[in-house]
Amino acid sequence: MDKNIITVTSPLLPDLDEFHKMLEDIWDRRWITNNGHYHKELEKALAEYLKVPYVSLFTNGTLPLITALQALRITGEVITTPYSFVATTHALWWNGIKPVFVDIDPSTGDIDPERIERAITPKTTAIMPVHVYGKPCKVDKIQAIADKYGLKVIYDAAHAFGVEVNGESILNAGDMSTLSFHATKVFNTIEGGAMVMHDAKTKQRIDYLKNFGFAGETEVVAPGINSKMDEMRSAYGLLNLKQVDAAIEARHRVAVKYREALRDVEGISFWDDMPGVKHNYSYFPIFVEARKYGMTRDELYFKMKEQGVLGRRYFYPLICEFSTYRSLESSTRENLPNAYKMADEVICLPMHHLLGEEDIERTLNCIVR
Ligand SMILES: *Cc1c(COP(=O)(O)O)cnc(C)c1O
Repeated sequence: MDKNIITVTSPLLPDLDEFHKMLEDIWDRRWITNNGHYHKELEKALAEYLKVPYVSLFTNGTLPLITALQALRITGEVITTPYSFVATTHALWWNGIKPVFVDIDPSTGDIDPERIERAITPKTTAIMPVHVYGKPCKVDKIQAIADKYGLKVIYDAAHAFGVEVNGESILNAGDMSTLSFHATKVFNTIEGGAMVMHDAKTKQRIDYLKNFGFAGETEVVAPGINSKMDEMRSAYGLLNLKQVDAAIEARHRVAVKYREALRDVEGISFWDDMPGVKHNYSYFPIFVEARKYGMTRDELYFKMKEQGVLGRRYFYPLICEFSTYRSLESSTRENLPNAYKMADEVICLPMHHLLGEEDIERTLNCIVR
């Protein structure tokens, strides 16, 4: 990577010598996948770190979404948000489920619970919200609606690693939550992911499903998939878990500097921390109001790019704008005014644990005038 380029993210990498020692141990054990030593250790360590009862590791963050829908036998229509990474909706499509998009709350970027009820039809079976940028959804309101109509709730918590509300993990909300440990996320296992569930029986069922449905040497209980995490990436994850708090703290320091410098810039807005929430600073979105700022989002985005500061227009376009989903009734601008507006105004600034003073200054110099 060109040293003069500031990238939007940078992977958290374990110490190479420590990783090498673990690899030697794996070579000694000659057990490289299928619920091995490090796989078990990482599941245990993550459950403890995340303050959740059960974790099942996956090979990425998309397959736990697909598997959660399978495990809960979700069919028909599912209410979800267009303001996310495409994998959220793809998981529904892969299960033959019709996505029904509901608009977001502009104060958080998350699905607006006030708009969920009127999107419910007799075919609705579940709600799949996303804690966008790690900002917690209004989980109590969503649960009340789900209970009233007998719906399941599966959270795509890909951005919400370690996020807590009043000391409790946000991952305990709903029926299940899924995580992504992709290289670009706060905590990564290169590729990887997990599902969080509340009871041992569900954990057992999910463990079968991610291994072809095998419940024993000769017994297959369901048409499962293969989504097992291997020993190398489990060991890598154990090492990264030891340094993830320091990485989140480094990100926090970047967020504080961005906020200080951008607070009084006309036409640029951003979010402050939410009261009672332990954030993970996974992203730093800013919103460009062209009329006030005197430049459109895209103009600013390309100006930054010219100067080697790579933000991301994340999430733009909306999921509902992609060809597969464009023709759904719920995909229109009239139905989703807040989501379309946010997608038109957002830039995620560079945000990772290695950003130095100079990088932050260069980024801000593109924006502050
Ligand atoms: C990253 C991400 C995923 C997919 O995770 P992978 O590990 O890349 O498969 C799903 N949903 C959201 C919101 C994401 O950001």
